Amino acid sequence: MMSMLPPATEAEAARALTVLKQQLADYDYHYYVLDAPLVSDQEYDGLFRQLLALEQAFPALITPDSPSQRVGGQPADGFDSVQHRQAMLSLNNAFSQEELEAFDKRIREALELDQVNYAVEPKFDGLAITLTYEHGLFVQGATRGDGYTGENVTHNLKTIRAIPSRLPTESPPALLEVRGEVLMLKKDFERLNQQQAASGGKLFANPRNAAAGSLRQLDPSLTAKRPLHFFAYGLGASEGAPVLRSQDQAMQYLADLRFPVSTLRAVKTGAAGLQDYYAMIGQQRSQLPFDIDGVVYKVNEFALQETLGFVSRAPRWAIAHKFPAEEATTVVEAIEVQVGRTGAITPVARLRPVFVGGVTVTNATLHNEDELRRKDILIGDSVVVRRAGDVIPEVVSVNLDMRPADARRFEMPTQCPECGSHVVRPEDEAVARCTGGLICPAQRKQAITHFASRRAMDIEGLGEKLVDQLVEKQLVQHLDDVYRLTLAQLTGLERMAEKSAHNVLTAIAHSKQTTLARFIYALGIRNVGEATAKDLAQHFGSLEALLAADVASLMRVNDVGPIVAEATYQFFQEPHNREVIAAMQALGVHWPEQSPSARSQHLQGCIFVLTGTLPTLKRDEAQALIEAAGGKVSGSVSAKTSYVVAGAEAGSKLEKAQQLGVTILDEQALLALVQPSASDTLLTLVADDTASEYSPLQPDLF
Ligand code: NAD
Repeated sequence: MMSMLPPATEAEAARALTVLKQQLADYDYHYYVLDAPLVSDQEYDGLFRQLLALEQAFPALITPDSPSQRVGGQPADGFDSVQHRQAMLSLNNAFSQEELEAFDKRIREALELDQVNYAVEPKFDGLAITLTYEHGLFVQGATRGDGYTGENVTHNLKTIRAIPSRLPTESPPALLEVRGEVLMLKKDFERLNQQQAASGGKLFANPRNAAAGSLRQLDPSLTAKRPLHFFAYGLGASEGAPVLRSQDQAMQYLADLRFPVSTLRAVKTGAAGLQDYYAMIGQQRSQLPFDIDGVVYKVNEFALQETLGFVSRAPRWAIAHKFPAEEATTVVEAIEVQVGRTGAITPVARLRPVFVGGVTVTNATLHNEDELRRKDILIGDSVVVRRAGDVIPEVVSVNLDMRPADARRFEMPTQCPECGSHVVRPEDEAVARCTGGLICPAQRKQAITHFASRRAMDIEGLGEKLVDQLVEKQLVQHLDDVYRLTLAQLTGLERMAEKSAHNVLTAIAHSKQTTLARFIYALGIRNVGEATAKDLAQHFGSLEALLAADVASLMRVNDVGPIVAEATYQFFQEPHNREVIAAMQALGVHWPEQSPSARSQHLQGCIFVLTGTLPTLKRDEAQALIEAAGGKVSGSVSAKTSYVVAGAEAGSKLEKAQQLGVTILDEQALLALVQPSASDTLLTLVADDTASEYSPLQPDLF
């Protein structure tokens, strides 16, 4: 964490505190009231800790208006105020294992116990609310506000489906306050920001701000349009509720009342148990459907919580153990472009080094020119950078207030920086590409690196550095040249001792025995990832069958839509690619032949939705056919739906399918799909054939 020299005198400390308090108050206002933070949480937390350290050194300087003595922000104008029956406090933070151990030690000493049990769960990154139920009916909901007075957002909360409007029990308590967090799922946040961008609206910095901004709308009909979610994590005041002795029991009670509660909650013992839990949730963090910024530990027994009590702004019996921030602020020092395997030219921000997501980041992707313009990123700008899990760091937003006068606009190059070929950007695509193909060393290098990668041909030792040399020395021009490399060629390269050269050659020889799925994936066909390669291999069984497939038969493969089918078809139509493949086979690359996937299961993984009346098949007959082929039938259309089968008088499901671009089948097409061999000629896709609009630059093996 941020360290600083302690001021020598009380006067110095007082001056520093005045500045910090002003700064934090300003950040609080932008964060809590305007839902538009000026700095990242990491930066805020760093300043907050400086303030705490100063106050600890000079306790006489603590004033009631210090952020260390208060919670959150003021309620905004426009909402009625609500006095909380029980204060809604914040949580103290631990950022390291030492701080966590110190917390556990403090608790054990205060309680004079050897071991303490803690109720643990993720720390949702949303905003705190309280829900009041009277005789089972939801009567009022409020934000935390300053901890004592919040904003009345009852009408807005009523639009959130996850919040019960009546408790499902015959004997509800006279009064029950439920505490929890309103948040927005990551995928809903992405979609909302896309919609905002399309309509020229304000973009939200992260799901938390989007949730806060959405909940604190004066017009509930606007909130209703925003997909908000809720998790309950505790109780406030209550009258006539069953006797609950622990946090754990309270959570079970809330779950029984059908409040959404975290399925990741648990009870752990001692600091070691807490640390294990922290590591376990940390691993899952990036895959969770919502943002979390840490985990929360609460002394489980209520009687013990009472003994421990509160300090000014937080309970003594709980702590938030924070994860490394996924966002941080830094400066864009330059913008350059990178050339990818398929020639895609990606603008990349060179950043002033910044610690984020647990590592020091110096580069962040800007995706493409449109993204760069949409986010309005200039060279010299202060930006928020995000790195979540193993995802490539990206620039999330610009802090326009801090834009320097000499900030410069970046122009995409018209020539490839690697090979000088023209850069083109087809009108309907977001990505600009180098047209160099064969001659562009950047594309060649990445194609070979991909070919050799672990999930492709798995050639250990053939990494980026070696590939760079092989391409620069023109030892590998086409992929099949990999199988022509000799010991003499390899030992002639820099930093390549005879032993390593041997190892590489052995790995190359080993890779000749592979699987069809790996081989297809290794070819690097645009849009054909590992899963699609597996599906193609399984469906066709042999390379010959795949080479012979036309677009329509390719589309019969699980999860293969028109774009992938077209790219695959074009790839194998290119004579040069066929030559390279044949050469590799001649050099010994081989795989076991499989029989094409069992007919009866070829629709495994496909989700169908039936709507309207089909000409001959009854609904359950259609369903039986689909299921017999391994497919599933679902009642509603979503992004996961593979096909919608539409008959006469199809209604809203058909409309939704069209909106989402889901492939729509009529009865004939369905029959063709479930019994592919019998009715090849019957395949009539009613769906828009987006393939015709898609004109890929010819992907090329070399
Ligand atoms: P906090 O968010 O660190 O912790 C307290 C809150 O955690 C509770 O109010 C509750 O809403 C939430 N919470 C989530 N899951 C919970 C669970 N399972 N059990 C109990 N509580 C749970 O504290 P805070 O006072 O709300 O906010 C302070 C933090 O907000 C700062 O540490 C900073 O990261 C951020 N902040 C940032 C800025 C900025 O400008 N970027 C400004 C102000 C605050």
